[in-house]
Amino acid sequence: MKILILTIFFSLCIYPSFASVYYVAGNGNDTNTGTISQPFLTIQRAQSTIVAGDTVYIRGGNYTMTDAQIAKYTGIWAYVTLLDKSGSAGKRINYWAYPGEKPVFDYSTIKPAGYRINAFQVTGSWIHIRGLEVTGVQVTITTHTQSECFENQGSNNIYEMLSMHDGKAIGFYLNKGGNNLILNCDAYNNWDNVSENQKGGNTDGFGCHPSQYGVGYVNNVFRGCRAWFNSDDGYDCINALEAVTFENCWSFYNGYSTSFGSLGDGNGFKAGGYGVSATPKAPPVIPRNNIRFCLSVRNKANGFYSNHHLGGSNWLNNTAYNNAVNYNMLNRSADYTADVSGYGHNLKNNLGYGARSAEYSNIDFDACNADSNYFNLPVTVTEADFLSVNQSLLTAPREADGSLPVNNFMRLAPGSDLLDKGMDIGYPFKGAAPDLGCFE
Ligand code: CA
Ligand code: CA
Repeated sequence: MKILILTIFFSLCIYPSFASVYYVAGNGNDTNTGTISQPFLTIQRAQSTIVAGDTVYIRGGNYTMTDAQIAKYTGIWAYVTLLDKSGSAGKRINYWAYPGEKPVFDYSTIKPAGYRINAFQVTGSWIHIRGLEVTGVQVTITTHTQSECFENQGSNNIYEMLSMHDGKAIGFYLNKGGNNLILNCDAYNNWDNVSENQKGGNTDGFGCHPSQYGVGYVNNVFRGCRAWFNSDDGYDCINALEAVTFENCWSFYNGYSTSFGSLGDGNGFKAGGYGVSATPKAPPVIPRNNIRFCLSVRNKANGFYSNHHLGGSNWLNNTAYNNAVNYNMLNRSADYTADVSGYGHNLKNNLGYGARSAEYSNIDFDACNADSNYFNLPVTVTEADFLSVNQSLLTAPREADGSLPVNNFMRLAPGSDLLDKGMDIGYPFKGAAPDLGCFE
């Protein structure tokens, strides 16, 4: 008996606890045990079983979500799936599409009157969600409101290869948390045509608005994402009290319906700002947002927009094409009283072409660190500088690993005078010097 007890004791001490794997499938049942042959039906049910370090595989196919599956009503919100269980450092909880399969969650029949609908409300931390498709999220409120496909309030989460489309909701929205990575996600064809004036003025592809400042709200990064045909902006970080980073992201056709009807604001990247109030809710240190190696094409308004921000941001190696204004650095005066030309911006190695109205506006060159851009270098940008300006390449399928498609769109042609015209700002480059724009 003593030996047996010791054996158990040492087993517990020596062997790490093994992570468990569970399965969710469209033909599953929440009374099942969650094995591959007895899968659960809902992610919510899987969450009730798992612990830190576990993985939930979600099988491919369609999941028609129903009102009965709404996990929680609170205040004006209806959370359909509420992920409030956290992993821990080194023991993430994974909600992953089963390898090679595509689960599609359809919310088009969920219409609780008077509620904002969040398809996934993520308050937990150390969670990794990968490979899910969310479609048809509704709006029922006819006054000011918004619904969301994913809302993040946790930290250290990864959102990867998610597709949020053809609904009335914002694709991804962050208002709390830090150290989150939004990687290789697509948000498209999202238009709230129900609330307010039916123009979808709140429906951004990606919104990042850390509502507090300090250590728990820093280091939120968007990388490799695409946003198109969202009725408001592609990416929006208005009212962000900590800096947000957009890196290697694409934004196009925002502010338009899919037939290019005029809808909401329509900026590619709306980086910062606290509105034009005389008493804005601004943090003591105005964050410098980072927008680098991004591509912005044919948005209704500005490709890259500072949006009355109260300070400068870092705009590095971006490419803008065919926006109304490709680069609009409009700032607000530090005393909140007036809109002024952009100050404090660090603008380097940016490239643009074919703006519909102006290549740039609102740059106070004396108050910015803005050299080595196409608008102040001795270069001439023509269509011949690019291998292709065929916009249909923007929606090409992603690479097998989920990264952005690699094709000729807006890549520099051999012999272009834009090659090697940038300055070394600390990122890798080929040849004698960095090229202008987002593709080296
Ligand atoms: Ca917006
Ligand atoms: Ca180069």
